Amino acid sequence: MPRKPKRPCRFGGCPKLTDHKSGYCEEHRKEMQRHYEHFAQGYNHRERYGGAWKKVRDKYIKTYPLCEKCLVKKKATVATLVHHKIPLANGGTNDEGNLMSLCVSCHERIHKRGKTF
Ligand SMILES: [Zn+2]
Ligand SMILES: [Zn+2]
Ligand SMILES: [Zn+2]
Repeated sequence: MPRKPKRPCRFGGCPKLTDHKSGYCEEHRKEMQRHYEHFAQGYNHRERYGGAWKKVRDKYIKTYPLCEKCLVKKKATVATLVHHKIPLANGGTNDEGNLMSLCVSCHERIHKRGKTF
């Protein structure tokens, strides 16, 4: 009798069996790892900005409450976050000229396009 019976991968709809303690098949373990790294990055991001950024952000989003990318496409979507056109890490500032109100999906699209924006 095998000590660790294989179970179906925990990822919804995945037909593979796994005996890994995470409950995911190899492919989905990698996938989960990627998500985790993404999350960790966002977390550090927020920590680094601190309270001053929150104030700038709140003020900016009140002035520009709609997603600027969606507006270009003549769509009115409520912006939920403020994006730095030039990331602070690359010498960008919290200046209004470097900021952009975005909805979640437009923001994700920008960041998926590549790290150097
Ligand atoms: Zn899987
Ligand atoms: Zn948008
Ligand atoms: Zn961003």
